[in-house]
Amino acid sequence: MAAESTKNPSSLTSSSLCHMCSPLQRINGFVRDSTLLSLARTFTPPSHRETPNVFIYWNYAGSSNVSVDMANRDVLTALSQIIDPDFGTDIVSCGFVKDLSIDETSGEVSFRLELTTPACPVKDMFEKRANEVVTELPWVKKVNVTMSAQPARPLYADQLPKCLQSISNIVAVSSCKGGVGKSTVAVNLAYTLAGMGARVGIFDADVYGPSLPTMVSPENRLLEMNPETKTIIPTEYLGVKLVSFGFAGQGRAIMRGPMVSGGELDYLIIDMPPGTGDIQLTLCQVVPLTAAVIVTTPQKLAFIDVAKGVRMFAKLKVPCISVVENMCYFDADGKRHYPFGEGSGSQVVQQFGIPHLFDLPIRPSLSASGDSGTPDVVSDPLGDVSKIFQDLGVCVVQQCAKIRQIVSTAVSYDRSVKAIRVKVPDSKEEFLLHPATVRRNDRSAQSVDEWTGEQKIQYGDVPEDIEPEDIRPMGNYAVSITWPDGFSQIAPYDQLQTMERLVDFPEPLTSHANA
Ligand code: ADP
Repeated sequence: MAAESTKNPSSLTSSSLCHMCSPLQRINGFVRDSTLLSLARTFTPPSHRETPNVFIYWNYAGSSNVSVDMANRDVLTALSQIIDPDFGTDIVSCGFVKDLSIDETSGEVSFRLELTTPACPVKDMFEKRANEVVTELPWVKKVNVTMSAQPARPLYADQLPKCLQSISNIVAVSSCKGGVGKSTVAVNLAYTLAGMGARVGIFDADVYGPSLPTMVSPENRLLEMNPETKTIIPTEYLGVKLVSFGFAGQGRAIMRGPMVSGGELDYLIIDMPPGTGDIQLTLCQVVPLTAAVIVTTPQKLAFIDVAKGVRMFAKLKVPCISVVENMCYFDADGKRHYPFGEGSGSQVVQQFGIPHLFDLPIRPSLSASGDSGTPDVVSDPLGDVSKIFQDLGVCVVQQCAKIRQIVSTAVSYDRSVKAIRVKVPDSKEEFLLHPATVRRNDRSAQSVDEWTGEQKIQYGDVPEDIEPEDIRPMGNYAVSITWPDGFSQIAPYDQLQTMERLVDFPEPLTSHANA
């Protein structure tokens, strides 16, 4: 950073950040004059000492050699040795430590670790290490760690219909063709996540060929409607909530509209109709998907299918977190046979950067359990197929947590430099925008005439020093910005990326997860 970086940010008026510079200073839409427009680097790296999520309760009774601050610092410093392998950040900075209470007289320390999901694959490790590192402090006599998970809630709950507001992650299981094992993967993945401790639901969205009714055997095979709320009550099998057109009976009309009341869910698995046409696209637009898993078979041609799937989800900014190659091989006569060739897994990795690839064997048991109404991972939980689903489950849990993290911090208002900070998901790109520029670039009907394209909002209508009141992610593709006059602007990342940027960008922050 240049010498300006030491400037006091409060001396930077909003006009010093604005883009009203001479045309010479604008190159490719970027403001280049760093002397006029430099931004102070005022960031202090996220410090666990200031973590607002941590509440300290201190028992003042009795005397102590350890001060409140010291004890607090000791515990948080000890806990900050524990790194979340997914976020690459320590658990204190991640905001996982809650309700810290220290009893000075007895040397007893209690706290809760609130993880992003009850299916967190490293929760036991966190609990054990947290116990160990705090016990090692010389003044500590007893440690009480409790584990919990954040309440189920999508990142952008306010913009969603009520029935989707209490679902944390929605994962689409998709394939380009029928018969490749999409439903088999969806159902076994759902029961694997449930086995990991999550609250799970399956929505079988295949109108013409619903397969859920043959793959699971709920006692109640008919969906009911709550007459008061006019919402569908899902049926249930082994703790997993189920909705399928196959359970709708004669009253298929009740499936119109998304009004299903499933209660709180950590993961909703959507078994998508096969293909990548308009039906699938519309479904993806209506439901705010967190991520997608693509199922395919190893034939050479199947690569084209995967590409189609990845492209469809990319259009909607839904990350594909893994590809499952089903029916890859079978073992016979002491040898492994690959009847369809060895697949295009490595090509998928190279071309689309989807690193998580799972190969499933051809197994009569997978087919038989599908027909018997008990998923394979339930009937043979220790088998090698269950092991593969376990790995897929861990991948889904970790990737969803990462996506939520990235999305929730992707666009924020940085009060210290009075600028909107944008970190484009799925890229290393990070830049600052002047709030007034963002507001002036609103493309909604309120600002631009939809028919004539005429600009309704004038430059001077937006005060130079306008500041956003609230910024929230909307799915993976846009943010909703609330301004002081009550106007709510929807700004897609694509649009933010084309706006004129502020230069002398302060070095990126070390990631500060505020789970
Ligand atoms: P899709 O949802 O893609 O149409 P399904 O999951 O319904 O496909 O699977 C089609 C058929 O193939 C089902 O009878 C299922 O039990 C069977 N099947 C799927 N995967 C395997 C496998 N790996 N080994 C053996 N049979 C399988």
